[in-house]
Amino acid sequence: MPIKSLIRTIPDYPKPGVQFRDITTLLKDATGLRHVVDALVARYSDAAVDKVVGIESRGFIVGAAVAYELGVGFVPVRKKGKLPGEVLGHDYALEYGTDRVEIHSDAISPNENILLLDDLIATGGTAEAAAVLIEKLGGNLIECAFIIGLPDLGGEQKLRTLGYKTFSLCEFE
Ligand code: IMP
Repeated sequence: MPIKSLIRTIPDYPKPGVQFRDITTLLKDATGLRHVVDALVARYSDAAVDKVVGIESRGFIVGAAVAYELGVGFVPVRKKGKLPGEVLGHDYALEYGTDRVEIHSDAISPNENILLLDDLIATGGTAEAAAVLIEKLGGNLIECAFIIGLPDLGGEQKLRTLGYKTFSLCEFE
């Protein structure tokens, strides 16, 4: 099923020159949503995943569905200050300035097999920060998976250079 045709592109959002890939049009399509979840579940059903980690906020939507279907737990990685318990955080560079993602310190046990999910990888900074948190908690990161990859921005390449496996269901230029 061509999920790309269900992803809407909004020009100049959130700022001029950016082509924002909007997955809400994919998510509202029953067949599209099912296809995305089924494709990811099929890829990881034999991977002995212990937990799915999803990145705020669109990574929560598909991440929770995939975790449910795999029969494993779901763990959120959130922007700073959003998680109520004791957290581990990691700062990462943005085009201008820095940002921070956090995970609950007790969310992952050592040697658990983790699947990391987000809607889209651009430069890879967000996913790399989440990967660092997973590894600091002792998790074994099986793969970083995305609905959309933007190869021109080099994120997946960067993660692979760092030794992480990556997978995208579709790509945009
Ligand atoms: P990166 O850290 O540069 O790889 O950016 C990826 C993060 O920014 C992900 O959490 C995405 O949800 C978000 N993001 C960046 N560009 C887009 C887009 O075009 N559509 C949806 N999310 C985006």
